[in-house]
Amino acid sequence: MSKLPNCPACNSDYTYEDGVLFVCPECGHEWPMEQDAENAEETGVIRDANGNELNDGDTITVIKDLKVKGSSSVLKQGTKVKNIRLVDGDHDIDCKIDGFGPMKLKSEFVKKV
Ligand SMILES: [Zn+2]
Repeated sequence: MSKLPNCPACNSDYTYEDGVLFVCPECGHEWPMEQDAENAEETGVIRDANGNELNDGDTITVIKDLKVKGSSSVLKQGTKVKNIRLVDGDHDIDCKIDGFGPMKLKSEFVKKV
């Protein structure tokens, strides 16, 4: 069973659930259960540095020099990347760059062409 929150009015821990409310039997306080914040957030849309929506197959350019993980190479600002693929994760763009091979980029460092 999940732990119920204490009453915000009297701090009693004898609270119980009643539909979408929590109820405190000691002082009669009722309050709504919190909404799941993650569900409220917009999901599935990835935007570039300018706030434009990105889609699979788009061409983008890199807006700043980026160090390539695990090598001494630097992906130069202005590098054009064709045919991106959007993925879940911290680095949300999957792509292949000439001279570098498969790479993952962050959408905040790219701009749609
Ligand atoms: Zn109470």
